[in-house]
Amino acid sequence: MKLWVTPNGDRWLCDECQPEFAEQISSEKWRVAFDELDQMLRCSNCKHCDVEIPD
Ligand SMILES: [Zn+2]
Repeated sequence: MKLWVTPNGDRWLCDECQPEFAEQISSEKWRVAFDELDQMLRCSNCKHCDVEIPD
């Protein structure tokens, strides 16, 4: 999970959602503040955590 610094504040995004924001990331010059693997973190877009729990 990466913490992105955006014009609207910081937000966590998982790798799966990152491509959805690629345009904003480049146009608004988002930058990564942290990159952490922590299952307590939730993506601000899909609300899922980084660590997949197998069925
Ligand atoms: Zn996500």
